[in-house]
Amino acid sequence: MNITKHENKTPPEARIKNINQRGFVLWFTGLSGSGKSTIAMEVEAELTGLGFCVYVLDGDNLRHGITSNLGFAVSDRYENVRRVYEAAELFRDAQIITIVSLISAFEKPRLDAKEKIGEKNFCEVYIKADIETCRTRDPKGLYAKAEAGEIADFTGVSSPYEEPKRPDIVIDTREVSIKAAVKIIVGYTLEKQLEFLLPKILEDGIHAAFDAGREILEIYKKDFKIEYKDDNSPLTEADKKSNELICGRLKKYAPYIDILTEESADDKKRLENKFCFIIDPLDGTKEFIKKNGEFTVNIGLAYKNKSILGIVYAPYLNKLYYAAKNHGAYALCLGADIFKLFSERNKIKVSGKTADLTVVKSRSHSDKKTEALLEKNKHKIKSTADVGSALKGCLIAEGAADVYYRFGYTMEWDTCAMQCVVEESGGVFMQGDLSPMTYNRENSLNERGFIILNKIENKFDSEGI
Ligand code: ADP
Repeated sequence: MNITKHENKTPPEARIKNINQRGFVLWFTGLSGSGKSTIAMEVEAELTGLGFCVYVLDGDNLRHGITSNLGFAVSDRYENVRRVYEAAELFRDAQIITIVSLISAFEKPRLDAKEKIGEKNFCEVYIKADIETCRTRDPKGLYAKAEAGEIADFTGVSSPYEEPKRPDIVIDTREVSIKAAVKIIVGYTLEKQLEFLLPKILEDGIHAAFDAGREILEIYKKDFKIEYKDDNSPLTEADKKSNELICGRLKKYAPYIDILTEESADDKKRLENKFCFIIDPLDGTKEFIKKNGEFTVNIGLAYKNKSILGIVYAPYLNKLYYAAKNHGAYALCLGADIFKLFSERNKIKVSGKTADLTVVKSRSHSDKKTEALLEKNKHKIKSTADVGSALKGCLIAEGAADVYYRFGYTMEWDTCAMQCVVEESGGVFMQGDLSPMTYNRENSLNERGFIILNKIENKFDSEGI
């Protein structure tokens, strides 16, 4: 063959960076009428709504174009699948999330597709329904025609369907509704695209935090009513308004990401979800009431019980902290600094200090145990600072303080967002017994307290305390 291959000058990583996603192929196989096209189009719409570039290569549609000269004999079916996987591989290489919706009745060409596209870029989804169900649905009237002898080589009637031997996902559409199927496949895709999902959530979350902050400040300036909840903690109109605004904005991620927030009823369905937002719409209500400005809006995200994203915004101080797993931690003054999501100039890291440490203390919650610990380790401490809300962890993250011990009562929403900011800035966050902190738990109380350190070697001597 007198054909020379031209290598693209642009490496895949450059395209991935521009398009903000990594291409891969969801290959739907199943009988005619099993539900491939219906589910594929819904998945495409949902992922598009979440900001991804997705395209469905539908077997029926392609037969009007690149496969229009093929029939349904076995050799033509092989060629049909080959053309579709060649096209799908081009889309994938262009970094499009590509959904192939194709009967693809034979195992061999499906394996060829997997080999061509590459195992790590390929997910075989078996859209399963028995022939009786498909015949009953018969959305295109094809079963009726096949049985009347009007269509030769019709899969399931006059041509075989080989079930996939090792599909990555099986959706049995006799039992799984269209909505539930979409949830499974979109959820799978979001996990695969996690690296690219996090910046999208950060953008939405930062906007929500900023707008909630504006509402909070409106109320802050006025005289506001204070109610007391069952646990005697205060509640204001600002907590409620902020909660409503943030939950309203983040609802676009439902049902793929659940929400746990201090100010709404806890829907325990969240425990079955790998993803859960963990929100305190106004952390430091006591500081808010005392009007010292040290209150924050906290938006965290837990994935598989770990904190993987955090936004801590202090509207009165006009200071924004945020971080996402493997993307770093950032801090800036809104309005004063140039905003670009992952700008090196706004990146923060913990201090490298191992002596003359600055310890942060809770402004509104002090206890004897903390006092005893600080007394015992006073030779390491240069100063202490009283600060409210999640700002304490953020001060350590940006190197303005070094150590924070908290033995008392806190909840998941007090720590989730702050933990990611601390960890992504190089700091250490653990429970009081030194075990890792987990999130999206049955009981939201952080029972074992927690410790934040700029460096692990700065752990205080707590023997006898
Ligand atoms: P295919 O693309 O596999 O040939 P279609 O998506 O065109 O199948 O048609 C499937 C038909 O079955 C549609 O009319 C759809 O509304 C119906 N249906 C009923 N239940 C489901 C389900 N759980 N999943 C997908 N489709 C379903």
